[in-house]
Amino acid sequence: MDFSVVIPVLNERENVAKLLVALIDVFESLSGEYEIIFIDDGSIDGTFEVLTELYERCSQLKVLQFRRNFGKSAALAAGFAAAQGEIVFTMDGDLQDDPAEIPGFLEKLDQGYDLVSGWKYPRQDPLTKTLPSKFFNFVVRLTTGVRLHDFNCGFKAYRREVMQDIHLYGALHRYVPILAHQKGYRVAEMQVAHRPRVFGKSKFGAARFMRGALDLLTVLFLGEYRWRPLHLFGWPGIGCFGFGLLINCYLTILWVAGQGPIGNRPLLILGVLLMMVGVQFFSIGLLAEMFALATSKDTVPYSIRRRLE
Ligand code: UDP
Ligand code: MG
Repeated sequence: MDFSVVIPVLNERENVAKLLVALIDVFESLSGEYEIIFIDDGSIDGTFEVLTELYERCSQLKVLQFRRNFGKSAALAAGFAAAQGEIVFTMDGDLQDDPAEIPGFLEKLDQGYDLVSGWKYPRQDPLTKTLPSKFFNFVVRLTTGVRLHDFNCGFKAYRREVMQDIHLYGALHRYVPILAHQKGYRVAEMQVAHRPRVFGKSKFGAARFMRGALDLLTVLFLGEYRWRPLHLFGWPGIGCFGFGLLINCYLTILWVAGQGPIGNRPLLILGVLLMMVGVQFFSIGLLAEMFALATSKDTVPYSIRRRLE
């Protein structure tokens, strides 16, 4: 299999057939075997029924139906597990992405990249989406050092090994280019045409920004400290504990020297608090080290580009 297209859909009844036709058009003009995989992420508008009808008529089509809505990341993960292509595309099922961009993605991959991420330009969404998204992209660029304009574009092309190496869960699909970059894959960006949504509604509201911010912390933490968590938790642990110990030693000396009672001093509370927080930091760090050790067999802490053997 040369190409797979993975498309998560939630209530996209009017869009799936048009998208399928457009995709077949593009792939018939390229040479190579291809498959198109729709993941129905718990639609309740009859999307699956439409997909079932299409399946009867199209041999390149695969359809997975989730029992309920598990989210876009889960849908992409299921699509990745089913995909057999050497090159795997992901795209949204809302007709906002244009399949005619696919040859462009292939050219970019040929330049030696492992992952090519779309950049919706100019973006056809309301200001309430584009403005926060600009800010989001700016913060991600700043904190990760990866210089893309549009991290969360649904339209992307992966070499098979990147797809297999990236483990999607939660809502981490927003950070795929970062996850790939952290493993040393070569990531590029390419401008893609974007169209306004005609049928159906956008599935992501304002909650996405709070969640996105928390996920950024997760991604930054995992990227830097997944395999050495005590390096993160150890220093604040030592700092808090040491500072609390100093305070309490000072108070003890006062007490021994007969400088009055210390039980009524706020400083005592601070000292005790700091020592306890210090122990907490340290224990979390050590527990995380045990977790890293325990999982190091299933999720290797490296990624191999080439083998000469
Ligand atoms: N989607 C999904 N599961 C969800 C939310 C969205 O499979 O829980 C799909 C949706 O059907 C679409 C793609 O993910 O194909 C992108 O969603 P949407 O167009 O609503 O996002 P936006 O373009 O507004 O960011
Ligand atoms: Mg959309």
